[in-house]
Amino acid sequence: MKNILTGDRPTGSLHIGHFFGSLKKRVEMQYDYNTYIIIADVQALTDNFENPQKVRDNVRELAIDYLSVGIDPSHSCIFIQSMIPQIAELTVLYSNLVSVSRLYRNPTTKAEVAQKKKLFGESGESITYGFLGYPVSQAADLTAFDCEICPVGDDQLPHLEQAREIARKFNHIYGETLKEPEAVLSKMPRIKGLDGNEKMGKSLGNAIYLKDDEETITKKVMAAVTDPSKVKKDDPANPDICMVYYYHKLFNEENIETVCKECKNGHRGCVQCKKELAERIIEFLKPIHEKRKYYESHLEEVDKILMEGTKKAQEKASEVMARVRKNMKIDYFDDAKK
Ligand code: SF4
Repeated sequence: MKNILTGDRPTGSLHIGHFFGSLKKRVEMQYDYNTYIIIADVQALTDNFENPQKVRDNVRELAIDYLSVGIDPSHSCIFIQSMIPQIAELTVLYSNLVSVSRLYRNPTTKAEVAQKKKLFGESGESITYGFLGYPVSQAADLTAFDCEICPVGDDQLPHLEQAREIARKFNHIYGETLKEPEAVLSKMPRIKGLDGNEKMGKSLGNAIYLKDDEETITKKVMAAVTDPSKVKKDDPANPDICMVYYYHKLFNEENIETVCKECKNGHRGCVQCKKELAERIIEFLKPIHEKRKYYESHLEEVDKILMEGTKKAQEKASEVMARVRKNMKIDYFDDAKK
């Protein structure tokens, strides 16, 4: 089976955008690939270096989210990035293989640099070495586990291309050592926010989290953006510009034609329509909530899964690191150990 690496930064709870955008696919794929799931705490620290407690608290939260949606630790190796020293070693070694101008040319980095400058000033003081080098550490993440397949969203493609370049350059200089990860573009839809924003995001305040309780879900759905032209209950409306309808398509597929028809002919009031949707979402999240409840009351089990996953990941990364050291001729004392 081929190796696959996916993961998230532990900066907050996962939401239904994550579920449809990546988690659902990960659960399906874990039976067909050697799956490594990285909890990227070091990467989370690039933007949260002054708030390590936030990152630490979210490591376990993220693991619980994974387990609750059906990531199976007997098929997926869930591990903590900072506990794999080989990733840091590889990041240093790869830093000679990429120029600073190439890092700046990365379109995703470019967009983020522009955003940072807008927020924190043109001087560029907010652009840290760690931020700029993020694609280099991502190359280390991928190659440390001989990752052959990497499912990505289109915004991550430039980073993956940079990782491939680093692997190619390494192999060209030091001989065939690293696997070149191949991007598999996620075909899963990017879920829009409740406010109609193209992206559902932690920072945008428009998300339904996997752990949200019934009351919170109902409250959020009741505030979702609908067709503004519908004022009275029996006004006909256009479902295509309504976020409630958009979510009905995801959670209430079997009744979607009725929802559409009734909305268009004014036989459906928005309040009832929203209540129905909230019920559907609550029903959908029920098994996820049950699993979460179990893991929240068995935290020692969660920690054990993280510890065992991290140990397995360390073993794999050591194997790759030994190859790297040997081919870079920095495998001092290895003969003495034999
Ligand atoms: Fe949206 Fe439903 Fe209201 Fe139509 S009836 S505008 S689909 S909330």
